[in-house]
Amino acid sequence: MTEIAVIGGGYAGLGAIGALQDVPHVHITLIDPGTGHQLIPELPEALSRHGSVSNHIVPYDQLLESASVSLVNSRAMSIDWTLRTISSANGSVTAFDWLVLAAGSEPSLPPIPGLREFAHPLRDAADTLRIKESLRYLKEQRIVVVGGGLTGVEVAGMLAPDHDVVLIEAAHRLLPALGKGLAEYALRRLQRSGVITTVGQKVQAVENQLVILERDHYGFDVLIWAGGITVPTWVKNLGLPLDNRGYPLADHYGKVGDQVYVAGDLWRVVVDDHDVAATAQVAALAGTYVGELIARKIQGEPGGSPFLPRIRGMLISLDPGQGVGWVLHGGIPVRGMSARTLKSLSFQQYRQKLARRFNKPWLVGSNL
Ligand SMILES: Cc1cc2nc3c(=O)[nH]c(=O)nc-3n(C[C@H](O)[C@H](O)[C@H](O)COP(=O)(O)OP(=O)(O)OC[C@H]3O[C@@H](n4cnc5c(N)ncnc54)[C@H](O)[C@@H]3O)c2cc1C
Repeated sequence: MTEIAVIGGGYAGLGAIGALQDVPHVHITLIDPGTGHQLIPELPEALSRHGSVSNHIVPYDQLLESASVSLVNSRAMSIDWTLRTISSANGSVTAFDWLVLAAGSEPSLPPIPGLREFAHPLRDAADTLRIKESLRYLKEQRIVVVGGGLTGVEVAGMLAPDHDVVLIEAAHRLLPALGKGLAEYALRRLQRSGVITTVGQKVQAVENQLVILERDHYGFDVLIWAGGITVPTWVKNLGLPLDNRGYPLADHYGKVGDQVYVAGDLWRVVVDDHDVAATAQVAALAGTYVGELIARKIQGEPGGSPFLPRIRGMLISLDPGQGVGWVLHGGIPVRGMSARTLKSLSFQQYRQKLARRFNKPWLVGSNL
């Protein structure tokens, strides 16, 4: 039996498991501390008044019923590269022949005075729950969202119907991943929903209920930090070679060591000298790619070509009914209701893919 360990059951981890679970004489151990697969791009919806975080988590015990997959429900802590074992927080030790490291990223929190004390980062379901617990929907609250990228814009738009929202971005415009025209559309739409937007100013300090910028300051009841992601410290400490930004140093196939691969947010994919944005779409593609690559190698076949993600689109919700972005490999800009509908469709397509991969028809159309 070939033992494969997958650390992290997110978009990349499940992509790899889906590609490997039917390979003969393979046993897969998924290590993940959570109760289920988190549909993270859907989490901003959970922040709306009637949203619920549990609607966006697929329980592992219902999803992974195949005999070839076992779950260690714990947090991986360290790896012994000589013995080829992973030690987890619950004391379990998992041996592996092949390893896929797909533990995602964590919020990047710069050393701004007061930030760690007063801000809520938003990266996963637990963060979303904490934010939801501090929101009072029947009473208007002042919400400050820091970070005008995809996550910050979606969160600001989702909260605007029920709260006074300020969105702060250090660069001179929102949504650097989109063209200028689409970003301006997003800005107008947010402003129409009542979001106050401040660009070109960095946060200098955070005090109890006050965020201080270079020129302005805003009072807040809830402060949400959506200011980027970084490699988790425990991954940096695994003893793998790292690049200049602290990412495990991977080749064009995701390989970081002998029969050891990364996928998802942990794989810094560079195409034509540009970093490919870390998204669920790329993570799922990378996980499947790495899983298929390992499957071929185990079966004695050649590895195939380097990873080159074909990004089908980039869609951002601006409120429950509107969106903005592009589809068809950058070819077609979309705005308004059509963009929001396409985004909902992309969520549905992902659930359909999971349902097919893991033979779970109930996943499609369900609210979980
Ligand atoms: C609010 C928000 C909105 C987003 N919206 C979009 C969007 O609309 N479209 C899009 O494409 N992308 C979006 N993204 C980005 C996307 O969610 C990530 O790029 C994607 O989830 C990365 O996939 P991953 O598999 O690398 O990590 P994840 O999906 O985060 O999965 C990582 C898994 O690893 C587990 N894990 C962590 N540490 C350990 C450990 N020590 N041991 C074992 N397991 C561990 C976690 O529990 C988790 O299950 C959004 C991100 C956020 C935060």
